[in-house]
Amino acid sequence: MSAPIPVASPHVMNTYNRVPIALERGRGVRVWDVNGKEYMDALAGIAVSTLGHNHPRLVPALQDQVAKLIHCSNYYHVPGQERLATLLTERAHMDKVFFCNTGLEANEASIKIALKYGVDKGIERPVIVVYEHAFHGRSIATMAATANAKVRSGFGPLPDWFVRVPVDDAAALEAAAKAHPDIVAVMLEPIQGEGGLHPMRADYLRQVRALCDARGWLLMLDEIQCGMGRTGKWFAHQWAGIVPDVLSMAKGLASGVPVGAVLARGAAAEVLQPGNHGTTFGGNPLAMRAGVETITIMEEDGLLANAADVGEYLKAALRQALGSHPAVKEVRGQGLMIGVELDRPCGALIGLAAEAGLLISVTADSVIRIVPPLILTRADADDIVARLAPVVHDFLSIQS
Ligand SMILES: *Cc1c(COP(=O)(O)O)cnc(C)c1O
Repeated sequence: MSAPIPVASPHVMNTYNRVPIALERGRGVRVWDVNGKEYMDALAGIAVSTLGHNHPRLVPALQDQVAKLIHCSNYYHVPGQERLATLLTERAHMDKVFFCNTGLEANEASIKIALKYGVDKGIERPVIVVYEHAFHGRSIATMAATANAKVRSGFGPLPDWFVRVPVDDAAALEAAAKAHPDIVAVMLEPIQGEGGLHPMRADYLRQVRALCDARGWLLMLDEIQCGMGRTGKWFAHQWAGIVPDVLSMAKGLASGVPVGAVLARGAAAEVLQPGNHGTTFGGNPLAMRAGVETITIMEEDGLLANAADVGEYLKAALRQALGSHPAVKEVRGQGLMIGVELDRPCGALIGLAAEAGLLISVTADSVIRIVPPLILTRADADDIVARLAPVVHDFLSIQS
């Protein structure tokens, strides 16, 4: 017998237009709904489930930690924080970490570091450069840093600490520098996620790094979506050979357990002192264990190389299956962060793909987003294309 089709609860705030399916369990890159229908999970909870679902080494580690200690206050030392901080700072070439629970919290911490860094230098009203199409979260400050007017509308007046520039345009950044002497930092996503899956050019990232060095600005990278191995290196900026001053991460960091982190280097790592920042849940033993196990398993199983290899394979297969359709503008991305841009809004594809047994999302109205678990195999990639291509072709033929 089928369970009834899930409908919006009158007791849950109406903040999402939900697809009418309810997922019950998962294994590897597949999930099953309450009716037993199977789906290929090419979304991974939006780039969160790094190791897939029900991972045979992650699950017992978390069970062990739950039985030992889930939470304790940051009034005390948390050994797991030291372990995870060591793993992260080594891989990101940074000095120190602050642990929190979500992406927006990590960016809030970045923004607080930039503001106080400026004030400590004697700048009364520090300004932070942000980008067109940027997404940094939905708190008051991170919403102000976000470009999308739909995200911001209805919540003014928002903080006016930000100046916005176009992507990949060094001259525009130089012009902003001249117009705003109080700039203290530049904040950007090396691959913009919600904004439509746009990688920034490597040479542009190097130009931004050089300008930050010349002007004494902090380079603050938001790798909440593109970091943690998704592109085939630990962090997307490493493809450009740069090192940031501040680096925020969350999503895939603990393979599904909520955790966020902001890493900092040099002077930026010393800005926040006792009393300046804090969190009740951040850095709790369960989240730290999940992060440590995620990184350990990623390395044991070679998941960075896998993301690079299967990502290239999947991108080529998507180009083969969809690239010649006149309505497909581009197939782009790096590693297992892939966007397929159409020439029209395609939000309806989320539900149509789900009917065909495939979980995806659509971002910036017209970009199909594929961000599967990093354990994806080439055979799984073939499965994604086999399910997606007919759905997209049907959708486009009905549309035109
Ligand atoms: C998801 C995301 C955020 C916000 O993370 P939350 O955990 O939803 O607060 C911020 N920046 C980027 C680039 C993201 O992809």
